[in-house]
Amino acid sequence: MAYRDPEQQKRATSTWQQRQQKESRIALVALLGDKCVRCGYDDDVRALCIDHVNGGGTAEGKRYGWTRYRVITKKVMEGSEDYQVLCANCNQIKKVEAKEQPKGSVPPGGEGSPKPLE
Ligand SMILES: [Zn+2]
Repeated sequence: MAYRDPEQQKRATSTWQQRQQKESRIALVALLGDKCVRCGYDDDVRALCIDHVNGGGTAEGKRYGWTRYRVITKKVMEGSEDYQVLCANCNQIKKVEAKEQPKGSVPPGGEGSPKPLE
């Protein structure tokens, strides 16, 4: 469906993208277990978010834009364990906890690598 008015076309496209994004997000939440992995919350899918286990979700969102949930769905189906479902509360708590970690506790680019004993 194409519109003669470019503004109208733009609006129609963005509504379509928003709907696609919403649907693929719901499908992805279901694929990842349909509930918060921390507290088990599953009442309302709108309060559930896709969390990037090792961080980096913001950069990925910028890179893939509205198709990000499709990209993630593909990765998860291929066996990726980089993603989990968190409710809005647990997601927020995780963010705060990550910030509270002392600088240098996670070596850059070496998440999960063992620290030398002191
Ligand atoms: Zn939770």
